[in-house]
Amino acid sequence: MSMIQESPVVRIQSRPCPLCGGKAEALFTVTDENHRVSQVPYAYLKCSNCCSIFLDKPPVDLGRYYRSDYYAIPSIEQLQKIADKDHNKINTVRRFAPNGRLLEVGPAFGVFAWQAKQAGFVVDVVEMDARCCEYLQDTLGLNVTQSGDPPEAIKALPPHDVIAIWHVFEHLADPRAFLSSAAANLKPGGILVVAMPNPDAWQFRVMGRHWPHVDAPRHLFLIPENAMTNLAAQFGLEKVFLTSDDSDARSWNRFGWQRLLMNRFRSKFMQRVMFVVGYGVSLVVAALDRRGFSGSAYTIVFRKK
Ligand SMILES: [Zn+2]
Repeated sequence: MSMIQESPVVRIQSRPCPLCGGKAEALFTVTDENHRVSQVPYAYLKCSNCCSIFLDKPPVDLGRYYRSDYYAIPSIEQLQKIADKDHNKINTVRRFAPNGRLLEVGPAFGVFAWQAKQAGFVVDVVEMDARCCEYLQDTLGLNVTQSGDPPEAIKALPPHDVIAIWHVFEHLADPRAFLSSAAANLKPGGILVVAMPNPDAWQFRVMGRHWPHVDAPRHLFLIPENAMTNLAAQFGLEKVFLTSDDSDARSWNRFGWQRLLMNRFRSKFMQRVMFVVGYGVSLVVAALDRRGFSGSAYTIVFRKK
């Protein structure tokens, strides 16, 4: 009689949260559902203290999960059209810092950086993609540092009135190191603006690990607002603004429903159908996505004391 074989489930040891040192335990495993670069399951843990969620072991070949079409570079006319469509980001910044020297970390091809330059800011950018860097420097005329290590790159830059990081913070290997560098670089009274997925989102409660903003394995951290606020305070950064219902958050709500449905199909045709169906669903449930602090993303502004 053969013994019942135990299935080869990988048991994740609990381990300390990289953000607060609290005890973190296995939450779920999920594959790369958004881009299907591989079928490797990725394990996420959740901290019992600060409730942050993080990828247990980022792949050593993480670069290959950022496909080249992740950064389709537009002509300057196309860029201007995109920039003219929505001024939410630059308007948010200008409410707290009307002018000065601005750093954007992870601008991709630079829609916001271009808006900031047009608004009169002196603009520096830190970007890892070589093609984007060339475009940002040669076509947009920005001061470019090419680096995949923003905390280190920031140390070599002059002081800033504004540091902005839009949907890149969740990709950072070491959020604490970033906050430390950003806080040290900011002028007194300067602001740090961060937008990122909101793990308190209603969609996350409904969709669980299939929530497109988990985006395994590219998203290394999903940090609740209160954990982020406490973390930033350790570096002398004080929260002055918070929303999960600006136009960016609402577009990420839409993306969540569209991508969730598109990810259920492999055929391009069905994905196009689901793009439309997802848009419809997002309209029907908009009130639930927007209720309280339930948006799929949040924007938070900190001021250096
Ligand atoms: Zn924690």
